[in-house]
Amino acid sequence: MTARNIDGVALSAQVRGEIAQRAAELTAQGVQPSLAVILVGGDPASAVYVRNKVAGCEKTGIRSLKFEYPADAAPEEVFAKIAELNADPSVHGILVQLPLPKQFDADKVLEAISPEKDVDGFHAENFGLLLQGRKSFYPCTPWGVMKMLDTEKVEIKGAEAVVIGRSNIVGKPMAVMLLARGATVTVCHSQTKDLAFHTKRADIVVAAVGRAKFLTGDMIKPGAVVIDVGINRLPDGKLCGDVDFDSAREVASLITPVPGGVGPMTITMLLANTVESAERAAKA
Ligand code: NDP
Repeated sequence: MTARNIDGVALSAQVRGEIAQRAAELTAQGVQPSLAVILVGGDPASAVYVRNKVAGCEKTGIRSLKFEYPADAAPEEVFAKIAELNADPSVHGILVQLPLPKQFDADKVLEAISPEKDVDGFHAENFGLLLQGRKSFYPCTPWGVMKMLDTEKVEIKGAEAVVIGRSNIVGKPMAVMLLARGATVTVCHSQTKDLAFHTKRADIVVAAVGRAKFLTGDMIKPGAVVIDVGINRLPDGKLCGDVDFDSAREVASLITPVPGGVGPMTITMLLANTVESAERAAKA
């Protein structure tokens, strides 16, 4: 069997078209959706992510505001900016690009953002709502994965799903979302004793590990759906995922490539959350 690719670029284009439509309708009502992005320090990967987020805004008619601080910025300065943006009714989404320099407590920074403007879905209040199955801003990467699974009509109810990784931004919310949809979910991590035992029985496996080509074809159940969240840079400069694509695609039925899979969907769902926030503000 050779797996079919789930094309994150094509799906992103389609979803972004719908977002642009909603943004245009709001703008016509006098509420242009607006996203504020805060970048602290000169981490090159973070700068690329921020550039892509700003470009995504521009292409969908969302206003973007970018605030950059040097790596030695005082946390108070950033907290003051967040407070100002929280109070500004023309701003609908606020995101602070992670990672932050060491003088910052990232949890405190994320919790300074008003939950109503937390379009990354990282605030503890939004994460709590997600856990309880209530309306919140869904974290963008796992939400993008759900969108891909739904578009491909993957049966989630009753499926055995294995998530490798338990981070607050990917692994944990991914597991919660799959659970909410009726999957039987196993979460694996660095302390898991026999990883392949778990992955080999998964109908859906999501790799969010941060290790290049970590999940190989021999660890996958024939016909499984393989979602690769990883973004790793190889010594030759090329990007690759956490899945060994060449061996995995010989066993899986559906697979996301890297690049061109989950990555574009993450930014798309950030734009979706921003428009959603503006719609809520327009109705309030
Ligand atoms: P983290 O480093 O926060 O988490 C990695 C997880 O993998 C941890 O839970 C860790 O376990 C687990 N892990 C590490 N080594 C092993 C191992 N040998 N066996 C099993 N589990 C292991 O990473 P993130 O969740 O932030 O990101 C994961 C990947 O996804 C990265 O490559 C990142 O670049 C990418 N990413 C991609 C996005 C996109 O838009 N496509 C968005 C966000 C992230 P433990 O908890 O025990 O340490």
